[in-house]
Amino acid sequence: MTEDDMDKVEVLCFNKILSKWYIQNARDLLWRSTRDPYKIWLSEVILQQTRVVQGTPYYVKFTSNYPTVYDLAAAPLQEVLRLWQGLGYYSRARNLHASARMVVEEYGGEFPRTARELVKLKGLGAYTAAAIASFAFDEPVPAIDGNVYRVMARIFGIETDILSPAAKKEFFSLGQTLISQDDPATYNQAMIEFGALQCVPVAPNCEVCVFKARCFAYAHQAQDRLPVKAKKIKARSRYLNYFILYNGQRIALKERVGKGIWNGLYDFYEIETQEPHGQLEDFAESYGLNHLLRGGVVEPVDKAFVHLLTHQKLHVRFWKVDFGQQALPALPEAYGVFDLDRVGSLPKPILIDQVLRQEGFLEQDEE
Ligand code: SF4
Repeated sequence: MTEDDMDKVEVLCFNKILSKWYIQNARDLLWRSTRDPYKIWLSEVILQQTRVVQGTPYYVKFTSNYPTVYDLAAAPLQEVLRLWQGLGYYSRARNLHASARMVVEEYGGEFPRTARELVKLKGLGAYTAAAIASFAFDEPVPAIDGNVYRVMARIFGIETDILSPAAKKEFFSLGQTLISQDDPATYNQAMIEFGALQCVPVAPNCEVCVFKARCFAYAHQAQDRLPVKAKKIKARSRYLNYFILYNGQRIALKERVGKGIWNGLYDFYEIETQEPHGQLEDFAESYGLNHLLRGGVVEPVDKAFVHLLTHQKLHVRFWKVDFGQQALPALPEAYGVFDLDRVGSLPKPILIDQVLRQEGFLEQDEE
């Protein structure tokens, strides 16, 4: 649908209803009161794939530790990853850090003012670029996240698969038609908020909705069917077995390198098996573990963990191996042996951190 299909009066009317709803219903979120592109960017990156209640403390932590883009750019990556710990999707933290450096080094510390330029920053997609450009600089460019796709698809009855390239164009074009030229920031915020609070994915309360009279999905009872989304690829199962090799107050850990999701984070000695094994004896020999574990007292951690990532389902088991007074076995170069005092401050996948606390290696309430 474009401006040809919708006349100006209709667009104005849509905007009026939307902004009135927004004034009455918007949540008082910390980052809404700022026009600082750096803080808006932080909030947007933190909130990708993260709920507001979970993301808010991270926003507070990041803005107080790094009040300006210069502070973030100057921070060591390891410290940034450590602060990010618990939010998952660590590539976001790495991109955040790389982009902060880009802003300082290539743009003299000033964020670009248009979505077209902003999208060149590392890890910034079309949505985030548009959000920053409109919220901070009033650029009339539609910011279309999952919430907005849903609202548009339902109200205007768009059946295009929202994961298809065609949808990107179609929804963007409709967004351009709808967006308020006078106040694009409020329009974008309102659309996102409307999707988050009113036109929710499951069982929206349409009876109280301000768009009820003009909503295609309501008229056709198509709320469950819209937006159309192609089936997700089934997550691949992986079986990880971790060995916590320790003696006294020292633990062997390795920093993960490469392109994986946990790049730059520390974890334990790891064996990945092709299938699940409940008992160590079932796979110790075939994976050459007997030599490594010789001299240690092996104790399984009772609880098995399932960790969901975007396309992977990790089934994770842990074994503690206590070497008492003896030295730890010789390990490949990537491993280091760390005092527990130091382990607390290393960046780790949240799962590793949880197990260290659960098993008493770290204090329960340590940050
Ligand atoms: S009527 Fe229902 S489906 Fe339509 S916009 Fe409102 S909440 Fe969404």
